[in-house]
Amino acid sequence: MSVLEKHIHEPKIAYFSMEIGLRDEIPTFSGGLGILAGDTVKSAADLNLPFIAVTLMSRKGYFRQEIDNEGHQTEHPINWDPSKLMKRAAEQVFVSIEGRNVLVQAWIYFVESPRGGIIPVIYLDTNLPENSAEDKILTDQLYGGDESYRIKQEVVLGIGGVRMLRKLGFQIKKYHMNVFTTHTPVEAGHDKFTYELFNKVFGNYFPENIMKKLAGEKNVNMTLLGFNLSNFVNGVAKKHGEVSQSMFPGYQINSITNGVHSYTWTSENMKNIFDKYLPGWANEPEIFVRVGAIPDDEIWAAHLKSKKELIEYVNSVSGTDMDVDTLTIGFARRATAYKRADLLFTDLERLEKIGTGRIQVIYAGKAHPKDEPGKKLIKSIFALRDKLKGKIKLSFVENYNMNIALKLVSGVDIWLNTPLRPLEASGTSGMKAAHNGVMNFSVLDGWWIEGHIEDFTGWAIGEPDKNMNKIDADDLYHKLENKIIPAYYNDRKHWIRMMQNAIGKNAYYFNTHRMMRRYVTEAYIR
Ligand SMILES: *Cc1c(COP(=O)(O)O)cnc(C)c1O
Repeated sequence: MSVLEKHIHEPKIAYFSMEIGLRDEIPTFSGGLGILAGDTVKSAADLNLPFIAVTLMSRKGYFRQEIDNEGHQTEHPINWDPSKLMKRAAEQVFVSIEGRNVLVQAWIYFVESPRGGIIPVIYLDTNLPENSAEDKILTDQLYGGDESYRIKQEVVLGIGGVRMLRKLGFQIKKYHMNVFTTHTPVEAGHDKFTYELFNKVFGNYFPENIMKKLAGEKNVNMTLLGFNLSNFVNGVAKKHGEVSQSMFPGYQINSITNGVHSYTWTSENMKNIFDKYLPGWANEPEIFVRVGAIPDDEIWAAHLKSKKELIEYVNSVSGTDMDVDTLTIGFARRATAYKRADLLFTDLERLEKIGTGRIQVIYAGKAHPKDEPGKKLIKSIFALRDKLKGKIKLSFVENYNMNIALKLVSGVDIWLNTPLRPLEASGTSGMKAAHNGVMNFSVLDGWWIEGHIEDFTGWAIGEPDKNMNKIDADDLYHKLENKIIPAYYNDRKHWIRMMQNAIGKNAYYFNTHRMMRRYVTEAYIR
């Protein structure tokens, strides 16, 4: 009997994603999009939805990040053994790539919810002796290689995935393409290929004149192709929906704002008090509405425990001497220019005046191997660390992953986010922070436009829709000096009230249980 026997009777929603981040031991993710996919699958399991996910094996992962003392990033492949965690299916399928038949196999991982739901996740893999050397490595590296590697991966995932689902005996009632979600609303966020490359790789799956009607006359625009072949299209936050709508005026674009999986992204210390005062919260995050039932001293004590754990960890891995009593700011995200990791340092003199002895800052984040400006950004943070020595403590934790993310979002006091508007389609790490009673201090972009209430759930930086480094930095310094530092050191009661609001307003709403219920009612059963 196939390991899937129990799962093939009910028609499913099939969820396709280039990356899925379920746990660090399965390193087939690079960042936000993959973690969102993992959280989606986990909520689907908790809610017992008829759901199946398909992704690529990424045998070498994204990469392990090593940073030397000058801030220079080196990338290492991650070698992991799928057979320790997954079952290999006996079924195999072929896809045609550049006229060759490429054999694809599937590994199956089951995401099991304590509520009884089980979701199979299919990892497609071309590492088979029947394949040529160049085809064997097609599912090795996430976002590695060139354009041609990318389009071949899309053939393996898209065509290979559909064929594999059929071969395994599944009936599919809807396809959800997280693949074509442009999670960053800029031109470069849309995959485009020349017809020359496309025809070379793709051969004659379908006639070029039809392709041109669906994907564009000049290039194969994958976003356009997605629009033309979908019944329902959505942005991942209200603003993202609006911005995408203005880029593609001919299509109706809805929005379903992202969330995070509450249980995954709540620290052990917070879980304990949630279990005590808000039983049932993990499968019904609406229960966070009763956050006021948690006594102030207990919520503070839980936070302090997480903070202590984080500071000990950071000191041990980065050789700094951070302390638990200082207001701690966290900033961890993909190291890429638009996220402006260096905005905090726009005016060093002013920062020193406001922050010396009062704040410390912890950074983490990987730069894509080909993103030179992103790598430079990491180096500049290291240079600033040395420059600020003796005044403001700064550390950079290498190899940002899920485990480190949870430590950070639960152990810092505030979560800083400074993207150029409107490039942060949603952002999710701030939602993780909110689950741990950590307030956001962020530019009004992505989800924060919907989650922000000034001095209540957190603080905004700058004006909506205006991008001026100087204005943003000025506002950042002003609020740090006049609101955040005074509240943290002199008005603990107000601070704890805000922590509760982060949970009761932000975590209450920005979770994948709410998100999945909306996908079901607005997209899947239409
Ligand atoms: C949550 C998460 C992200 C995405 O965070 P953003 O705020 O969307 O940038 C990236 N990497 C890891 C490891 C995460 O846990």
